[in-house]
Amino acid sequence: MSKGTIVKISGPLVVAENMRDANMYDVVRVSNSRLIGEIIEMHGDRASIQVYEETSGLRTGEPVESTGEPLSVELGPGLVSGIFDGIQRPLDDIRKVSGYNLERGVEVASLKRDKEWEFCPTVKVGEQVEAGDVIGTVAETDVVLHKIMVPVGISGTVEKIEQGSFHVTDTVCVVKTDAGTENLTMMQKWPVRKERPFARNLTLDVPLLTGQRNMDCMFPIAKGGVAAIPGPFGSGKTVTQHQLAKWSQADIVVYIGCGERGNEMTDVLNEFPELIDPRTGKSLMERTVLIANTSDMPVAAREASVYTGITIAEYFRDMGYSVVLLADSTSRWAEALREMSGRLEEMPGEEGYPAYLGSRLAQFYERAGRVIVLGKEQKEGSLSVVGAVSPPGGDISEPVSQATLRIVSVFWGLDAKLAYKRHFPAINWLNSYSLYLDALQDWYEKNVDRDWPVLRSKLMELLQEEAKLEEIVKLVGMDALSPEDRLKMETTRSIREDFLQQECFDENDTHCSLNKQFKMMKAVLSYYDLCMEALAKNADITDLVSIPVRERIGRFKFAEDGEIDDIYQTIMGKLSEEVNGCINKAGEE
Ligand code: ADP
Repeated sequence: MSKGTIVKISGPLVVAENMRDANMYDVVRVSNSRLIGEIIEMHGDRASIQVYEETSGLRTGEPVESTGEPLSVELGPGLVSGIFDGIQRPLDDIRKVSGYNLERGVEVASLKRDKEWEFCPTVKVGEQVEAGDVIGTVAETDVVLHKIMVPVGISGTVEKIEQGSFHVTDTVCVVKTDAGTENLTMMQKWPVRKERPFARNLTLDVPLLTGQRNMDCMFPIAKGGVAAIPGPFGSGKTVTQHQLAKWSQADIVVYIGCGERGNEMTDVLNEFPELIDPRTGKSLMERTVLIANTSDMPVAAREASVYTGITIAEYFRDMGYSVVLLADSTSRWAEALREMSGRLEEMPGEEGYPAYLGSRLAQFYERAGRVIVLGKEQKEGSLSVVGAVSPPGGDISEPVSQATLRIVSVFWGLDAKLAYKRHFPAINWLNSYSLYLDALQDWYEKNVDRDWPVLRSKLMELLQEEAKLEEIVKLVGMDALSPEDRLKMETTRSIREDFLQQECFDENDTHCSLNKQFKMMKAVLSYYDLCMEALAKNADITDLVSIPVRERIGRFKFAEDGEIDDIYQTIMGKLSEEVNGCINKAGEE
């Protein structure tokens, strides 16, 4: 173990000498207060250390001790419904030890050591097991069944296993391996900067359904996919993330909060635990892990927090679960990177961010995926990642947004102007995109309707034409438009108001099934098609615009699930009746 001395202190960066035996990314204890830090650069025997605690009061000459281990997380029962800081210290425990103002150098275990969990074996003595195999389960919460897996690198024959109440550090299973015996506990450790292994990658051709029309229909994300969401203040970023946490098809939600100001994080800590899980009626925390960088921790902890979060997320993926990771915001994380890079006196890139900003972001997002996990069962697991970016002034031409856009496959462009007009969710359909559309087409055709992709394209086409027509209307007024173009403008208004806008506070509209999404699309577009035909038969555009069924189309979103098919039939019936009425009227005149 390497022991050195501090030679320089610059905010969260400490430089120590005589660290020859230490390795890059080793965790170190800094000064007599034993602050936690990590080596991020080595030059000969000089180590640059990023310290995860406040460094004020440190002096040169104080000792630095390497633990010889990389920054790791503890994985096991006790993660779910936990609230941890960026280096996985449980907030409730550090508060207990040190009061509300964090003391430095506090040593607390990530997973509670005194708690007992009921372990139910799923394998028997004599069975062969390998890495990733589930040897038992723990009902961690009412919602999550925690699967205890054989750690990576171990395989052999089960020699002893029993049911009972155990602490996370107790041996629950003994495995005879080629090299001897291994005592398995319910807890394993994993270095956060290293991706957890899996058997093989699967193609991303299944959507991660969210119940949100703007996402599922317009800009879908695949299971195992990556998306970015910019959040100018007040544009609905928090609501969108809550909707994703509540409604997306995830067994586990991992939320990483990197707030700038203390109150941003306090909001998260207050709001998240109050969210109700629509599936169970219980707290959403029963399937959530929260990583919160509180304001009393220095920026360096933010840098670590995304790795802590994604490693925990991978661990649940390895159990065969669908995991959604929300990171808010990656801009704050990038700022931490910038600050550390500045203190290391590295050559700055654009706007002072380090040149490796893009590759670091990519390394993080690349850990998403849909995979066959390790183990004999060949289970599927997925980890989908949604990163929020918060560009200063909402201008996405800045480096973090641009680097993110080069990596992610979905962009949900929240737009302050739309939010101002109370168009929610304020996702701008003209600059948002999903690169998964083609890969997911088959799935939608098979599982919803053959016409799904066609209708979706039609919607998008009309919305793009609307943008052009709006320019003309600005110059010459609505009256100068041809009846066909007026009909287009009426239809797109209906697409925006009756389809894209989704009221998160309405009991029925907050979540929209695919059947309902499809029928809503069909109703809006049938209005367009039937009216186009009617115009060709000389019907009057003013009559077509004011047919009463349009109001029913507008209210369709508030329908309960059980009434959708009936309401749809009624709308389609009335639609042809009323449009025919307009045609007949034209014939009589
Ligand atoms: P941000 O986090 O971007 O500052 P919020 O998510 O808090 O913004 O949203 C601001 C307000 O916008 C919310 O309080 C809510 O009134 C409204 N809002 C956002 N999204 C929706 C939605 N899908 N449906 C209805 N109202 C919404």
